[in-house]
Amino acid sequence: MGRRPEAHTDRQSQRLIFAYETAALLTMASSLAWAIYFLFMERWPIATANTLLVALAGGAWLLIRAGRLNTALIVSELSLVIFAIFYGLMFDPPSAEIPRITHLYLLVLAMLGYLGHLRRRSVFQLAVTAVSLTAFVFLACSTYAFPFAQAIPDEIRATGIWVNGILATAMMCGGIYVLQREFSRPKGLALELRNAVRNGEMELYFQPQIDRAGTILGAEALIRWQHPKRGQVAPNDFIPVAEAAGLMPLIGGWVIEEACRTLAHWRGDPALGGLTLAVNVSADQFQVEEFERSVLAAVRLHGVDPSRLKIELTESVVVHSLAPVIAKIDNLRAAGIRFALDDFGTGYSSLSYLRQLPLDQIKIDRSFVRDSLDSERGTALVKSIVHLGLDLGLVVVAEGVETPAQHAFLSDCGCHEFQGYLFGRPMPAGAFAAHVREAMLAAALTAPDLLRATLADWPERYAQRAESA
Ligand code: C2E
Ligand code: MG
Ligand code: MG
Repeated sequence: MGRRPEAHTDRQSQRLIFAYETAALLTMASSLAWAIYFLFMERWPIATANTLLVALAGGAWLLIRAGRLNTALIVSELSLVIFAIFYGLMFDPPSAEIPRITHLYLLVLAMLGYLGHLRRRSVFQLAVTAVSLTAFVFLACSTYAFPFAQAIPDEIRATGIWVNGILATAMMCGGIYVLQREFSRPKGLALELRNAVRNGEMELYFQPQIDRAGTILGAEALIRWQHPKRGQVAPNDFIPVAEAAGLMPLIGGWVIEEACRTLAHWRGDPALGGLTLAVNVSADQFQVEEFERSVLAAVRLHGVDPSRLKIELTESVVVHSLAPVIAKIDNLRAAGIRFALDDFGTGYSSLSYLRQLPLDQIKIDRSFVRDSLDSERGTALVKSIVHLGLDLGLVVVAEGVETPAQHAFLSDCGCHEFQGYLFGRPMPAGAFAAHVREAMLAAALTAPDLLRATLADWPERYAQRAESA
């Protein structure tokens, strides 16, 4: 099973992204309200400051929506810390009646910095936390203000302390909730899972994918967990736990590495060298900013032909907008890696995604294949799905093919490739290699010309393999 993966500290769930987005929107809305209020009061400097804050929060929100979470955090945290300190010293000095309030936001920023650090270890995020806490203590304990301060009148601040006090406390509560949900120590199965990857208990199984002529084109890599006590655990039993615990980037990273190692191992083998390998990538893993870089690094490290690697995505990768997803797929496709949309037809918006995502293949979900011959509607549905894929110029793969009747029907519909128990169950690497060799031999024996051709260049291929080994 090879080397252990690098410890992966990137934790970025949809919940976390949602929390950052909400914080940006709240900041934008409250500072917009203040900006309008101060415009009416004709207090230009503070109205300008609040307008600046609207632009800042809006920019951060746009960056997060575009999938640039890291950039959004760096830019917004840095400017917000400076802004909160400046605001507290310039517009919000305490008076005999009304205390200062702006510094409460520095606690929120300290928490944001700490969240950012937990998500991905970073000196910058720790510095944001430290500076925010220091400034909070200073502004809370002293009455200092700039000599040129333009204090907001007390009658306005009397309302402001309640609004800002409630808002900052609500943000703190939200932050604590996210902190607890995202980064509490994984328990039970989740803890075992994290150790499982480190202990090398994960294994890839391979399920053959065949073309219309019955030739094996490649395989889909499917993860299995060999639990020391429970025995083999199926992905459907542990992937949801791994997703909830934010472990999919770690597990998926291992899958990509292992897939590339397998392709490298196959390279030069007369039977296996021309095969493709499809890997499943979960939404959490795909959203990690380094995803493209880590895939390309694994491909390069193992000297793999990128066109042999296929990435299977499901619709869940599209969290908010399609644009960042399309950009990532485009980058990897430019390097030669191919993309398939898995479980096609099971989501809510497959059709619109199909039109816009730069894909190579669709995989018809096995629930449609299972029902394809049971009812007229089932038959019509599969025909329509296949035609849709063909019309869009995509390779159409049918998964979950279990019977010769299903195969014949799907073949008549025009499906290009097939996968299912009829052609082989998912199997360990050794069994898969033996299966491919047997299938090659069987095909060669039924076609003597092919056998002759295969044997003719065997010494040459064998020499190549010995060389590359
Ligand atoms: P999937 O990607 O749609 O994979 C196909 C699933 O259908 C596999 O289940 C396979 O064993 C099963 N299957 C294939 N042919 C047949 C058939 O003829 N009949 C029936 N009844 N089932 C068939 P498996 O291996 O249990 O995987 C389940 C799901 O777990 C996968 O669905 C995929 O979404 C996920 N998964 C597996 N490995 C990985 C992985 O490495 N990373 C991620 N993110 N997800 C994975
Ligand atoms: Mg799949
Ligand atoms: Mg599938």
